[in-house]
Amino acid sequence: MQKLILASNNPGKLREFSQLLAPLDFALLPQADFAVPEADEPHVTFIENALVKARHAAHHTGLPALADDSGLVVPALGGAPGVHSARYAGEPKDDRRNNQKLVAALANVADRRAHYVAVLVLVRHADDPQPLIGEGEWHGEIIATPRGDGGFGYDPHFLVPDLQRTAAELDAAEKNRRSHRGQALAQLIAKLKHGI
Ligand code: IMP
Repeated sequence: MQKLILASNNPGKLREFSQLLAPLDFALLPQADFAVPEADEPHVTFIENALVKARHAAHHTGLPALADDSGLVVPALGGAPGVHSARYAGEPKDDRRNNQKLVAALANVADRRAHYVAVLVLVRHADDPQPLIGEGEWHGEIIATPRGDGGFGYDPHFLVPDLQRTAAELDAAEKNRRSHRGQALAQLIAKLKHGI
């Protein structure tokens, strides 16, 4: 079975990606198994940060590596919180404070549009000149009053217009079918059909 390193220290992501990649015959291994040190994420774009993380894990393990980066983009805020979504309100990262900051930033703003973005990058080795890339976007709008207790992050404020429900009011399967991460993974899986 082809070994693939997941360049993340998040056990939830390992579980989710392992399930979704199961049909493809990869053994997905967390980078912690190889004592990979935390990668810097210095860039202002999702794709650059995902690429840095994947390349870093491949470099330290000598194996193919998969990394993701995701966040919320609000055009009326110049794309913020963007790559800073997890720590929009500073350290330590805190969803509640992030949401308060977002709602305050949009208090007098008519354009409430926002979209989630997810980028997945798979490198065959650290110097791979042609990484495999999957990208997804999920469009909605930000509401001031939170609704629902599913999901995480900005989900209680992210209204899905055609459903008139927030992402936090969807069950996991329905969120996965629509979400930025689900779309990014579907793109990547299509590219992986014939192996890496
Ligand atoms: P990361 O990709 O794990 O670094 O996550 C980036 C941040 O983006 C998260 O901490 C959340 O604040 C936000 N985010 C990404 N995807 C979602 C989502 O599906 N729902 C809510 N927030 C999200």
